[in-house]
Amino acid sequence: MKKVIIFLMLAVSIFALGDAGRILLNNKKTVDKIKGLKTEIAALDKKEKETNDTLVKLEEENKALRSELSEQLANKKVVYLTFDDGPTPQNTEKILAILKKNNIKGTFFVIGHNSDMYKRIVEEGHTIALHTYSHNYKEVYASEEAFFKDLYKIHDAVMEKTGVDAKVTRFPGGSSNAIVKKATLRKIIDRLNDEGFVYQDWNCDSTDAAGNKRPVDVLVKNATSCNATKINLLMHDSAAKMTTADALQPIIDSYRSRGYDFEELTVYSPKFQHRK
Ligand SMILES: [Zn+2]
Repeated sequence: MKKVIIFLMLAVSIFALGDAGRILLNNKKTVDKIKGLKTEIAALDKKEKETNDTLVKLEEENKALRSELSEQLANKKVVYLTFDDGPTPQNTEKILAILKKNNIKGTFFVIGHNSDMYKRIVEEGHTIALHTYSHNYKEVYASEEAFFKDLYKIHDAVMEKTGVDAKVTRFPGGSSNAIVKKATLRKIIDRLNDEGFVYQDWNCDSTDAAGNKRPVDVLVKNATSCNATKINLLMHDSAAKMTTADALQPIIDSYRSRGYDFEELTVYSPKFQHRK
């Protein structure tokens, strides 16, 4: 009996020890696992910090590049050649040929005539812009409604002939014309802005509107007398302006020699507005 008891006690002890051993062993595994996980977490934390540092650095570089780019764009000398009151077979074709020869894009503020020519302006990469359909001061400036009725008439005509949803506009006579009442102009400008149009006046005048058959050298002199960083040059391709096309090449040559590039106007271009 005694032997049996001793045997049982021994068996229980061995069993208990085995269990403790297993527990000890498991504990060690868990501790190792936790240790391993902690190392991994530390490595991930380090990586995260490095990634964040890289992101901050990239954002700073991006910001610096953007400000450098916008400074470069602001300092870039650009002439926007603009032609109003066309298109006409007499002058627009000559002007388009000169622009093509010089690989220059311009902006044509068209009115409601010779609408079959709209497409060529677009096909040759220029901006087709709106100058009202009738160009009749009394009609278009009679009221805000009258202005927009006329503006959408030219907008839709351009859309029909070219598929372009033209958004760049120019007031007949400019926004500083003496015909439109101040209150009407205010309403027109607000609605233009609301409906996604941009209107452009000019800051340089070739003076070809001052008369017909103006001497070429006078036009060249006036058109090249400007020296702003960004120049929006007013010219006309209406039938009566027979000398504008002849003045165009010397005008281009003058600005080129002074380091200017030529661009077409878009809704993103700098705004040249006499009245806001
Ligand atoms: Zn005009």
